[in-house]
Amino acid sequence: MYQLSDIGVIEELLSRHGFHLSHKLGQNFLINPSVCPKMAAECGAGKEVCALEIGPGIGVLTKELAKVAKKVVAIELDERLLPVLEETLSEEKNVEILHGDALEMDLHRVFREFFPGERVVVCANLPYYITSPLLMKLLEEKLPIEAITVMVQKEAARRLCAPLGVRECGAVSAAVQYYAEPKVLFSVSHGSFYPPPKVDSAVIRLAIRKEPPVESADEAFLFEVIRASFQKRRKTILNSLSAGLSISKEQIEDALRCADVSPSARAENLSLSQFAAIANVLSPCKEAIK
Ligand code: SAM
Repeated sequence: MYQLSDIGVIEELLSRHGFHLSHKLGQNFLINPSVCPKMAAECGAGKEVCALEIGPGIGVLTKELAKVAKKVVAIELDERLLPVLEETLSEEKNVEILHGDALEMDLHRVFREFFPGERVVVCANLPYYITSPLLMKLLEEKLPIEAITVMVQKEAARRLCAPLGVRECGAVSAAVQYYAEPKVLFSVSHGSFYPPPKVDSAVIRLAIRKEPPVESADEAFLFEVIRASFQKRRKTILNSLSAGLSISKEQIEDALRCADVSPSARAENLSLSQFAAIANVLSPCKEAIK
C-alpha cells in the first residue's frame, strides 16, 4: 500500500523510475494527506457517478477517487509518469489512464468511449498553466458533466468565483457564471505540495447549470461582447465595445440605450443579464463586424 503523500515514498518512487519533476508541466504533487480525501468526498463522485481527472501525477488523488467513484478516467500528458502510475494504481480496478494533452484531446470521444450513459464529475489538482483554457474547454464544449471540483491558485479561485459587479470579476468569471454556480470550498497552503509552489491554492467547485441564467440569441457573440468589454476594463463600456467589436460609437450608444445600460458604466459594473441584453441588441450588427 503506497503512502503517496509521504515525501520519502515519493522520492524513492521517482528516483527508482529515474523521474525528474517538470516545472513547465506544473508538477507540484499533493503531500497534505487530508486534501485528496476531502476533494474526493466533496466532488460528487459516488457508486453511480464516475470521475474524470486531469493530470494524475503519481496518482495520489486518483487513488482517493477510485475509492468513491464508480469509475475514474485520468488524462496525463507526461509520458514518463505512465509506468509510475501503472505501479501505484496496480490495485485499482476501476481506473483508466489516458496519455495525452487534456487541452487538445477530443473529450466528447473520451466520454462516448469511457463514460457511455454515465453520470460524470471532474476532479483535479490542475497544472496552473492550463487552468483557464481547460475550464473554458470543459464548460464551452457542453460535456455531460455535473460538477467540476478543481484545485487552482488562490488568485485564480477568487477571479473564477467572483460574481459579476465586483472588482475581481473578468471575462472568465462571466463565462463561469453563465455555465455554472461557482463556490470556493477551502484553501490549501503552498506547503501542502511537493515541491511547494510560491503561492497558496484553493479548491473550487463549479456546479454545472442545466439552463443558462440569461437568455442569449447567440451564445458565441455574447462571449465576444463580454471579452471586448473586459479587454480594457478601465475604459467605459461605450469605448471598450466600440474598439473591441469595431462598431461605431453611435451604434453602440443606441444599443446601450435599448439595453438600458449607461454608456459610462465599466465592464466590472455590469450584470450577466445586462451583457446578454447588449449582445441581443447588437447581434444583428454582427455581420457588419466580420
Ligand atoms: N494530481 C497530482 C497531485 O495532486 O499530486 C498531480 C497534480 S500536478 C499539479 C499536475 C499534473 O498535470 C502533472 O502530473 C502534469 O504532468 C499534468 N499535466 C500538465 N499539463 C497537462 C495537460 N495539458 N494535460 C494533462 N495533464 C497535464
